[in-house]
Amino acid sequence: MSWLRNLSKCYFSATKQPTKTHLFQSSTLLSRFSTSTPETGSTGPVRYAGLGPTKPHEKPRVVVLGTGWAGCRFMKGLDSKIYDIVCVSPRNHMVFTPLLASTCVGTLEFRSVAEPVARIQPAISNEPGSFFFLANCTSINAHKHEVQCETVTEGTQTIDPWKFTISYDKLVIALGAQPTTFGIHGVHEHAIFLREVYHAQEIRRKLLLNLMMSDVPGITEEEKKRLLHCVVVGGGPTGVEFSGELSDFIMRDVRQRYAHVKDYIHVTLIEANEILSSFDDRLRHYATNQLTKSGVRLVRGTVKDVEEKKIILNDGTEVPYGLLVWSTGVGPSPIVRAMDLPKSPGGRIGIDEWLRVPSVQDIFSIGDCSGFVESTGKPTLPALAQVAERQGKYLAGLLNKIGKANGGHANSMKDIDLGDQFVYKHLGSMATVGSYKALVDLRQNKEAKGLSLAGFISWFVWRSAYLTRVISWRNRFYVAINWATTFVFGRDISRI
Ligand SMILES: Cc1cc2nc3c(=O)[nH]c(=O)nc-3n(C[C@H](O)[C@H](O)[C@H](O)COP(=O)(O)OP(=O)(O)OC[C@H]3O[C@@H](n4cnc5c(N)ncnc54)[C@H](O)[C@@H]3O)c2cc1C
Repeated sequence: MSWLRNLSKCYFSATKQPTKTHLFQSSTLLSRFSTSTPETGSTGPVRYAGLGPTKPHEKPRVVVLGTGWAGCRFMKGLDSKIYDIVCVSPRNHMVFTPLLASTCVGTLEFRSVAEPVARIQPAISNEPGSFFFLANCTSINAHKHEVQCETVTEGTQTIDPWKFTISYDKLVIALGAQPTTFGIHGVHEHAIFLREVYHAQEIRRKLLLNLMMSDVPGITEEEKKRLLHCVVVGGGPTGVEFSGELSDFIMRDVRQRYAHVKDYIHVTLIEANEILSSFDDRLRHYATNQLTKSGVRLVRGTVKDVEEKKIILNDGTEVPYGLLVWSTGVGPSPIVRAMDLPKSPGGRIGIDEWLRVPSVQDIFSIGDCSGFVESTGKPTLPALAQVAERQGKYLAGLLNKIGKANGGHANSMKDIDLGDQFVYKHLGSMATVGSYKALVDLRQNKEAKGLSLAGFISWFVWRSAYLTRVISWRNRFYVAINWATTFVFGRDISRI
């Protein structure tokens, strides 16, 4: 019925004059921001614009850094009647990462895996004290309860970035992680990562460009082979799923519609150890056989150097490529490493059993950027959406409870009973390997008893599970339509 609601909104907004309430709301909104202009001749410290500390009669403010699985799940569960919510992130949407690989070859469209933050937590665009700021957090001052940020204005020539400061009552750090490159020369310059929608867009554009170029008169045989050689480095779930998607694209779409290049296009997956090391031997062998059957060449090797048109392995082998996708796991990002906060083994932001950052007041951390401090005796949890999502959900419940017990404002939660600790129970792992086949392992770990299967039924389970997990009904609808369209008409190969 939202079309009816929208229609009535259009009518009322077209006919109504701004009311006193509207004017009041926008003036309160403006008055929350302080301005930055330093007085002429002033020798004092430069004050940045921003949001100052909340007053005791105002709602406490929760500042959330990041709009990934952790930050978005947290915001979704946080009660906007108790808190003002301010979110800072360089992207205004959440990415449904398990389906990101499918967008690189056109099985799904990019918007099907992105959900605007304002749909996840409407308060940030509706409530007078709640906001979303398109910016990067650059540092945190735990002592002053402040975060420093800088706007993200890349791609626009007309706006220069500027800095601002936000005071928080509670801070939730959900900054995620960044791809690891092991310091290998040339990775950042020549490879494409697969973590964001713009990465998937870059991969799709490059793949289609190489396809087009390889058919133009004047191209040498050797150059044609290079352009159509897609190399994936890293045999974890992301690398394997992407290789599977690529091989499907080649077998079902390129071979049928690009007869000229069908014998030149190949996928090579390079992994230093075993592929899919988190799955047991039986599932791993199944995946290896399946990928090989689909034409993916599996190479056991370690990359030593990445050049513009070839990579060099440790044993000196040179592998020319036209498209290079790098997916060798994640580690703490520079901002996380630079933060003067306790750390977990491995360099993530240290947290205790209630996801609080110890030794500082009112700071919590969730998702890939956080890990238990050594004193908890708990292992660092894997960098997975299911961990991030459940931490987000747990923390929203905890902060709602704290807020209801009047502990929402800064430095006011000392005597509040926090209740149960966060406990993580692994629900299992899934990965597709292309050709309507997947692996599903619903056991707690490789040695435990339980369901683990591979093949078409697993693929069906994989698709159904992700269709139900997609963030909203709107996206669920997009995904279902995209899958159906791809099945009937094949993937769209227009280079837009
Ligand atoms: C292709 C792919 C497939 C995956 N498939 C699966 C799967 O099938 N199952 C599974 O469990 N996991 C999967 N994962 C892992 C899962 O996506 C991550 O574990 C999860 O995204 C972690 O959530 P997060 O919120 O901690 O970080 P992220 O989702 O990475 O979000 C981090 C957020 O922080 C923001 N940010 C970064 N720097 C700053 C800054 N300076 N200031 C403000 N904001 C900042 C980012 O823009 C982003 O919004 C996959 C990951 C990828 C890349």
